[in-house]
Amino acid sequence: MNRCLVLNANYEYLAVLDRWIDALALVFAQKVEPLAHYPLVVRSEKQAFPVPAVVMMRHLVHTRRRRALFDVPAKAIVLARDGFTCQYCGARITLRTGTRDHVQPRSRGGRDVLANVVAACSPCNLRKMDRTPAEAGMHLRSQPRPLVEEEKLACLLRTVRSEERTAWLSCLRRHGITLWTARAA
Ligand SMILES: [Zn+2]
Repeated sequence: MNRCLVLNANYEYLAVLDRWIDALALVFAQKVEPLAHYPLVVRSEKQAFPVPAVVMMRHLVHTRRRRALFDVPAKAIVLARDGFTCQYCGARITLRTGTRDHVQPRSRGGRDVLANVVAACSPCNLRKMDRTPAEAGMHLRSQPRPLVEEEKLACLLRTVRSEERTAWLSCLRRHGITLWTARAA
């Protein structure tokens, strides 16, 4: 079953709900307003309910939790930020072939955060090993960095299933939310 994108009351990204029942519960509790549905219904004994694809909070939510998804240098997020391009040699990589490289190696105290991780092809990752780019004689095409707010939705959209992307993107466009476009995309 497809997941539900939750936007904050200011249209910023807030969360992704894995279970449709959680999305419906928020709708019934009137905590969110549905903005788009999937072409799917779930049935109770007497009624049928469309499955929400995108919902928006009725009130602005301030939470630290919302950062979790994007502060962790998950492979999908790192690759999306770096345009699915190896940041050492420029080769195109995919979720399957690409790797994450800690610029300052973890064995040398490098942190496991977006600001220290870049997308790399496996040959470059193997070649670099636990050395800094300077020690390995390798040049970084861009410095690793955290995501800015506008990038988050764009990165998310590049890493979700196609039915989800289709439903979310058309809804965001309908509401005039323009997405930041990844460089080297
Ligand atoms: Zn490479």
